[in-house]
Amino acid sequence: MDTSIIQGISTFRGSVFPGQQRMYQRLVRDGQQPKALIIACADSRVSPEHITQAGPGELFVCRNAGNIVPPFSQMNGGVSSAIEYAVVALGVRDIVVCGHSDCGAMKGLMQPGALKDMPNVAAWLRHSHAADRIVCEAYPDDIDPADRLRVLALENVVVQLTHLRTHPSVASALARGRLSLHGWFFEIETGTLHAYDGSRFVALSDDAPLPVAEVSVPRFATADPSGAVGVGAE
Ligand SMILES: [Zn+2]
Repeated sequence: MDTSIIQGISTFRGSVFPGQQRMYQRLVRDGQQPKALIIACADSRVSPEHITQAGPGELFVCRNAGNIVPPFSQMNGGVSSAIEYAVVALGVRDIVVCGHSDCGAMKGLMQPGALKDMPNVAAWLRHSHAADRIVCEAYPDDIDPADRLRVLALENVVVQLTHLRTHPSVASALARGRLSLHGWFFEIETGTLHAYDGSRFVALSDDAPLPVAEVSVPRFATADPSGAVGVGAE
């Protein structure tokens, strides 16, 4: 193990934790009440807690290669379970999918040959194929490779937000107006956070409200939810 990690543990135990012990004990006594679920890339340069300056107990975080959310029906696993627990048990009111610049997973998507020794990564990235197709077929052919990588990461966030809505716990919370969805893109080199407004990504600024991908508004597919008056009623 790298000595910096061992030293970090020692510093935490010796001088950080003693000053925060009451906060940690309160988090155990009262239980966690995280403000949001953030699904981010496992990339070591993209730390949701650091970007949002959140402390222990404030964020429920799920990280994986490519900030991917498998569609509900195709795969059960860690991401699905984290979503369900965050929405049903913890009652989070916001879910964020956070992509980023210089993403290795997105590079792998652009160059499948580079993944020949990583069959699990290649299989995992199939959940991002829609984003790849969007960039290949809907964007100009002569797009610069650096720009292509960037728009692929952006489109991937949008695709994963779509997958998120296929999870029953998410779909139900959205219909009840108890959940908002957010798509973020973190530009590592500038520290800029871009947020999806349902149409495009906008750079965050302090004097404008946070763009939201899907705002929390209760909705019904019928004009009269209390009566059984549906489409085609006589
Ligand atoms: Zn990444």
